[in-house]
Amino acid sequence: MASFEVEDLLWVSCPHRVWRPGRVIDEGEGLLLQLEPEDEEEEPAPLPLPLPPKRLLRRNVVLLGEGALRYDNLTEVPELHEAAVLHALDVRFAHQQIYTLTGPVLLAVNPFRSLPLYGQDALRSFAARQVGVAAAPKPHVFGIAAKALEGIRERYESQTVLISGESGAGKTETTKFVMQFLALASAERPAASGRKESKRTMSRVERQVLGSNPLLEAFGNAQTLRNDNSSRFGKYIELHFARPAQLGDDVPNPKLSGARIRTYLLEKVRVIRQSEGERSFHVFYQALAAAANGGDQLEGFQFPPDSFKYLRHDQAKAAEDLQQYEATLSAMSAIGLSHEVPKIFRVLAAILHMGNLSFNVSGESCQVAGEGNTLALIAELLAVPSKDLAAALTTRTRQVPGEGVIRSPQNLEKSAACRDALARHLYHAIFKYIVERSNSSIGVGKESGEGFCGVLDIFGFEFFKENSLEQLCINYTNELLQQFFNVFIFEHETALYKEEGIEWEAQDFPDNADILELLHGKPNGVLPMLEEECFHVGGTAEAWCNKLVRLHEGKGHFSHDRLKKGTFIISHFAGPVTYLCTEFLEKNKDELSADLVQCLKDSDDAFVRERFEEHDRVFGTSQSGKLGGDGRNQRVMKAQRYSVSGEFRQQLQELLQQIERTEPHFIRCIKPNPKNQAFVDGDSSKPFFHRPSVAEQLSYQGVLAAIKVARAGFPVRFWHVEFLREFRCLAPVELRTALEAALKESTDELAPSEAATKSVKALLACPEIQAALSGKRWALGHTR
Ligand code: ADP
Ligand code: MG
Repeated sequence: MASFEVEDLLWVSCPHRVWRPGRVIDEGEGLLLQLEPEDEEEEPAPLPLPLPPKRLLRRNVVLLGEGALRYDNLTEVPELHEAAVLHALDVRFAHQQIYTLTGPVLLAVNPFRSLPLYGQDALRSFAARQVGVAAAPKPHVFGIAAKALEGIRERYESQTVLISGESGAGKTETTKFVMQFLALASAERPAASGRKESKRTMSRVERQVLGSNPLLEAFGNAQTLRNDNSSRFGKYIELHFARPAQLGDDVPNPKLSGARIRTYLLEKVRVIRQSEGERSFHVFYQALAAAANGGDQLEGFQFPPDSFKYLRHDQAKAAEDLQQYEATLSAMSAIGLSHEVPKIFRVLAAILHMGNLSFNVSGESCQVAGEGNTLALIAELLAVPSKDLAAALTTRTRQVPGEGVIRSPQNLEKSAACRDALARHLYHAIFKYIVERSNSSIGVGKESGEGFCGVLDIFGFEFFKENSLEQLCINYTNELLQQFFNVFIFEHETALYKEEGIEWEAQDFPDNADILELLHGKPNGVLPMLEEECFHVGGTAEAWCNKLVRLHEGKGHFSHDRLKKGTFIISHFAGPVTYLCTEFLEKNKDELSADLVQCLKDSDDAFVRERFEEHDRVFGTSQSGKLGGDGRNQRVMKAQRYSVSGEFRQQLQELLQQIERTEPHFIRCIKPNPKNQAFVDGDSSKPFFHRPSVAEQLSYQGVLAAIKVARAGFPVRFWHVEFLREFRCLAPVELRTALEAALKESTDELAPSEAATKSVKALLACPEIQAALSGKRWALGHTR
């Protein structure tokens, strides 16, 4: 910004508001920047000009006052940069306009209070199409869902809605709105058909698909410091639609035929410990509240409240939990799980009691303390002999060549670790069972066609004081998805212009291929090396960390602080994260002792036994009954090839391949303030929009970069044939016959056609059209 004039509008950077509006004034002693007061009391002193260029941005007159309310799509705002985006979102948020488009991407700022945006009327207005009228898309989660449904209705092309954002930003709520829309809008008729809509009742499939949410939340969500109902797993839900008899814009929406849920990385460590101010999974508290209230399904499980070491005792919310328990039960019955309710809660009870199991130390070995009470109860709940369970927890058997099976004692630490591992694995088994059963009740057969809409609700970028395997996996996921987003927005744009032969200055694309290479490149990437270390007999976290430092130190996105031993830093797309190596190996191996597996596989309770058959499949072993023999050796060998990160990477790869075959839609959720509050303290007329944290999210979600590129392009595009169809009415009489002939020749609307191209050129050359287009930004490409 070279020169200023009086009355110029500017943004100036400031730590508190990120960017503040100001105006150039002259009071006789040179130009000054007068800041706008934030409230009636403030009288900011003018700043002397010039200021460092980095601190100033031009402010556009269109955003003055409440101007931002006019812009549903920010790509139409002239001079769009960080300050303008932030300001526009702020002003819109203050007026309950929580949704804003930036090109094709929907930004959704969490209001933290219920707004009247999702009622039947809203749903209907998005579901009812005005055939033949191309209205500008309204920024709304239903608008995105409607767009996805359109792809299925008109082309039977599968779709994915990718929802991202940090914890508490509103991803899961947004996911539910998308699902709600897709379920309820299915089979809705277009408005132009002229029939008055009668209220329709939900079909069984629709009820079951929507009913899967409370169930998954009971078993997979927990209260955390960031979100009272935080999803502790990632999920991808596909809603499948029957192929309609006809495709097009004037046919009914396709009918929902079923759904498929995939889940990722359940945070099972939460079962055994929670940080201060956080809780374990909701379902435990629901069971406790119900038991305290005499819940008849829970008899004999001895759920005494306030006495479980695995739960933080200060965190029960009895009334709410009791209510949720009822909701969980009815969700279970909706998918036909009523019969299994006692079986599931029996295992949950066993898990809780397991936490109270302690050990007496004698030298290098230990015994279960106070046998007869807790141990006997757990053994009874799991239907295994209590002496077998005690032995499996405190000793280890090994096959020694020539000597048969040798049993050796375990110390306290190992035994306690075995106990906790069993609790985690049992819970994970229950969670997987719930997902499986949901899938088989609402599921779709393999034979179902490709017409689905997937919704991805997966944890956003995380960086805590201490970051471990969980954060690495989560951040790796976000890098992959970010790359997918980059490719979608940026490379897609460039490629398009290039193909069309339209001149366009390519921006610097943000590209995180380098970080991805560092994370998953073979053989030296952080994750492949971690997995290798897990498979390696005698491998340690320290050795892994040292190797990483040796190989990557000082290169690209990897660094290392010499003063912090056992840590390394990765500069992610969203910022640098320090990882602490200590627990990586154990967590990644996620071992459950073979003796415990065997003990539970011998349970008298078929439900418990079956949960461990599953365990075998994960480890890829053959069933061989008792210990010893080749079966066991085989188990050990194959088990070593299993790692949490390896399995997860495999799942992610499949997910991405799946998503790549669909048409993507992006929703970026934004948390307006770190306190999860609707309003600023003590003023319920002022929605709380904390600009610094929003600015941070805009930048690390790639929104700013995307805006830059999208607005540089041409927002409206037609294939030549489409263009002719739309605009042939403007052609002078002498051209019409030729145009009609060209149209007849080109049967496919969504494809290049030489005849059409010739005609478009002729049409554009007409003086009337030339006159109408003059001063407008337009271009004619090879096919569009
Ligand atoms: P995330 O899944 O991103 O961690 P959630 O979807 O669980 O976040 O949202 C956190 C909380 O914010 C919800 O429990 C709800 O209270 C509130 N919230 C989120 N989106 C909305 C919305 N569109 N309207 C009202 N409240 C919302
Ligand atoms: Mg969530």
